[in-house]
Amino acid sequence: MNRQIILKSRPKGLPTQANFEISETQVPSLNDGELLVKAKFISVDPYMRSRMSDAKSYVPSFEVGKPLDGGVVAEVIESRHPDFVAGDAILGHLQWQEIQTVKAESATKLDNKVPLSYYLGILGMPGLTAYFGLNEIGKPVAGETVVVSGAAGAVGMVVCQIARLKGCRVVGIAGSDEKNAYLKNVLKVDEVINYHTEKNIKAAIARACPDGVDVYYDNVGGEISDAVISNINKFARIILCGQISVYNNTEIPVGPRPQPIMVKKSALMQGFIVSNYSDRFGEGVKQLAQWLGEGKLTYQETIVQGFETLPETFLGLFHGKNTGKMLVEMKD
Ligand code: NDP
Repeated sequence: MNRQIILKSRPKGLPTQANFEISETQVPSLNDGELLVKAKFISVDPYMRSRMSDAKSYVPSFEVGKPLDGGVVAEVIESRHPDFVAGDAILGHLQWQEIQTVKAESATKLDNKVPLSYYLGILGMPGLTAYFGLNEIGKPVAGETVVVSGAAGAVGMVVCQIARLKGCRVVGIAGSDEKNAYLKNVLKVDEVINYHTEKNIKAAIARACPDGVDVYYDNVGGEISDAVISNINKFARIILCGQISVYNNTEIPVGPRPQPIMVKKSALMQGFIVSNYSDRFGEGVKQLAQWLGEGKLTYQETIVQGFETLPETFLGLFHGKNTGKMLVEMKD
């Protein structure tokens, strides 16, 4: 049996299990230049929500009736390419399918000196998103205050630590006391705010940032960002990384318009997509791996067991079920 997960229908608002279907398919036959691979870890990411809709974006939409796809760490079962042998671990952009073929040139062979799942997290797309977004747009300077929303997630957790390494005061915003305890006690974030229990986030940010906000790394958007932006300093930099709080909205929300504050504070607000920096990914991975090796970075994952849990695990991202990178591991 070779299972795959297909998009059954496009969601309206918050997706549900009914938008996905598990189906069975043949194990594909292998051609020259290809690898037959078995998934080990499959990544679930917030950006997949926009791919479930048919709105035009920077990545193509998933097709109804076809398997979803994304970042996957897999093991080579059989190789018809001289650079790979059975047993190699690879990273690829693959389907949500247990066994599949992949063109060898699109697979990256992985070194197992670190846990293989890290290539979907701190040494993969989320880690690179944190590294380039913070450094290239935020340009943090020692002594400045950096506020991070979605701080206990795959990207946010790395942003908090890099900002600390740069000598900044770091304030993390996350959705539970457990996440905030991890941020404070393990990652040594200076101040934390639980946006679910805090009644006045704007006032909480003012308290946590007595010198104002110099850099805001925005993973969530919405009212949390409105509150942070009302506390920015002159020449603040606002990094628009993600807006998860509005991904399931059926109408575009109208909130406070930030432009008057941006003018008054001569502030910069810039969106980005991590692939803007694809020609520098090597540099990013090298630096992140070095910090990891030196013990300057640490990382947490939420790993759920079993291929069939993929839809539910993905949906968990919108309910804060993860601390650090959310992944599904295949059972043997
Ligand atoms: P996370 O690991 O942070 O997982 C999502 C987290 O978002 C949840 O755990 C939850 O944490 C929080 N969240 C969910 N719903 C809401 C809400 N309504 N309001 C506030 N917080 C919410 O995901 P990633 O680290 O992978 O991604 C973080 C952001 O970065 C996303 O917006 C994503 O789309 C974006 N991104 C952008 C990239 C780019 O190239 N620009 C690349 C990668 C990611 P909590 O318990 O704290 O609520």
